[in-house]
Amino acid sequence: MDDGHQWLRDGEKKLVSKAPWWKDGVRFECQGSGKCCVSRGEFGYVYLTKEDRVRMAQVLSAKLKKKVSTIQFMRQYCAKTDGVWHLKETENPECIMLEGGNRCGVYEGRPVQCRTWPFWPEVMGAKAWKNEVAAYCPGVGKGKLHSGEEIARTIKEQSAWENDLARGK
Ligand code: SF4
Repeated sequence: MDDGHQWLRDGEKKLVSKAPWWKDGVRFECQGSGKCCVSRGEFGYVYLTKEDRVRMAQVLSAKLKKKVSTIQFMRQYCAKTDGVWHLKETENPECIMLEGGNRCGVYEGRPVQCRTWPFWPEVMGAKAWKNEVAAYCPGVGKGKLHSGEEIARTIKEQSAWENDLARGK
């Protein structure tokens, strides 16, 4: 198994030195509540690397059956806060890509942070998982069992993406 526990942070404070609580897997399946597409506190913005923006413009082009360049996509759907690109929000505030029936308008090309949710390094400590994920996400405990190996891979992918974002990629 991947050594996820060696680099996973428990909150912001310490390295977790024992096997993580999720080593035997976690049951999770999106229930389409749209809750993670609604802005809330520190997890408010849907951040985008360049790779996210390029991919989303391509998926949107295919969906609309007309070319949407990355620049056009950014002008219409993106904003920059503290030097980091993210999707705009509606007044509600919801992600600008959220459509009726809580469907993502660019699901196949959705940003990495949407695809890796809820297995983010920031929330995989037992306490953060309970307070930040299980308490409000109806998909926790439902559907597919994600193995410990799969979760470790997803955490690693999200972590690499966060590093890219911090480096302005
Ligand atoms: S990009 Fe799609 S999945 Fe991600 S927050 Fe927006 S609507 Fe939800």
